[in-house]
Amino acid sequence: MQRRDFLARIALVVGGIAVATSGVVSKAARAAGEIVWVKEKKLNYVEKAPADKVTAGKTCASCGYYVADAAVKGGGKCTFAGMKSAMAAKGDVYVKEGGFCPMWKKKA
Ligand code: SF4
Repeated sequence: MQRRDFLARIALVVGGIAVATSGVVSKAARAAGEIVWVKEKKLNYVEKAPADKVTAGKTCASCGYYVADAAVKGGGKCTFAGMKSAMAAKGDVYVKEGGFCPMWKKKA
């Protein structure tokens, strides 16, 4: 292998690592700080569903408005439009998978 080829290969490897790393950082940043979590009591939302709702299988994770997000541990998006309005959020709003609010609906 010529010296020029060797240097070109190193440049490709370093570039690949930089691209991969930037993707990871972006996901981590999203998980850490760019998420709008619904505050407790907004539309009577609670982060921990009452026992009778848990027994009935009615938590955010089983709600028709809930969309899981693999990048976020323990929570997902609440797509109920009223919740987004209540939070005055431009983007998605997130709830805990074990949460609950009275707008819970059965998944289709
Ligand atoms: S509508 Fe209520 S129960 Fe359903 S995901 Fe949103 S906060 Fe949870």
